[in-house]
Amino acid sequence: MSPLLEARDLVRIYQTRRGLLGRPSNVRAVDGVSLKVRRGETLGVVGESGSGKSSLGRMLLGIDTAQGGAVYTNGKAMPVFGSPEWRSLRARIQMIYQDPLAALDRRISVAEQLREPLDIHRIDGSESRMARVHEVMLSVGLRLDQADKFPHELSGGQRQRVVIARALMTEPELLVCDEPVSALDVSIQAQVVNLLADLQHDRGLGMVFISHDLKVVRNLCDRVAVMYLGRIVEEGPADTIFSDPQHPYTQALVSSVPQPGRALKSRIILQGEPPNPGNRPPGCAFHPRCHKAEDICRHTVPETRSAGVECRAACHFAGHASLRELA
Ligand code: SF4
Ligand code: MG
Repeated sequence: MSPLLEARDLVRIYQTRRGLLGRPSNVRAVDGVSLKVRRGETLGVVGESGSGKSSLGRMLLGIDTAQGGAVYTNGKAMPVFGSPEWRSLRARIQMIYQDPLAALDRRISVAEQLREPLDIHRIDGSESRMARVHEVMLSVGLRLDQADKFPHELSGGQRQRVVIARALMTEPELLVCDEPVSALDVSIQAQVVNLLADLQHDRGLGMVFISHDLKVVRNLCDRVAVMYLGRIVEEGPADTIFSDPQHPYTQALVSSVPQPGRALKSRIILQGEPPNPGNRPPGCAFHPRCHKAEDICRHTVPETRSAGVECRAACHFAGHASLRELA
């Protein structure tokens, strides 16, 4: 069976100019990304800001057009952005952004926000629309007396529940969540993450969960893809990524997540900031920050290689026992 979502060799290039008179230069924000999401599976996409995660998320929905490669849903190529085919596909793939206030229309009530996707996608159904609104509100933990409230009358957590409810109105197969809890108070982040986990489980949704918070990703995701400067540098089952990461970048990220039984001194501190994507270091782009870089890394781009069961990593030394011992 075809995967719910498949990306093959996606490329997204932006043009930037350094300074007012600077010459335009091309930035490969997403550079040859391939991934699959199966039905009922949660794929975490992690990496520092500027790694291309959000660009990738928009490309998976066809909001940003791929300049190379392609996205397939259920084996069919993503229709052109804005076309009638794309609009009908959007009912089945929904996106949840970081800022719920920006995602909601401030002038209309919760009930109207939730009815809107039914109008857009001309979904009638036999049950009354209001009954559907109420059913979805309850499923995301909203109270029915909140149906007449406006976004500014709700807390941040409640607003994000409205955004999630809105996404569920069209009964999607896939949710793409871009940092869905990072704008919320820490005290309510866990509630919203648990809600997403329950919905994913109960409805058998596929989910792409974009986040820089590895603790959340470890709890929520089945598989994890690690991005660095527009490329996936490691991908595998969440258990393996967290217990035996192969790529030095993943090792550094994972070492910052507290784990029972692991001494704090084993933390690997990442030196410096990620380089400007418009100024990609030669060889392995991670080499200026890598604690395991050798000569070859400075001039030869590492191939993505198999690094264990269902794991792949783009490092010259991935899968070598010595690397694992050093970690
Ligand atoms: Fe580090 Fe070299 Fe592996 Fe790149 S290829 S991650 S620089 S060891
Ligand atoms: Mg982002």
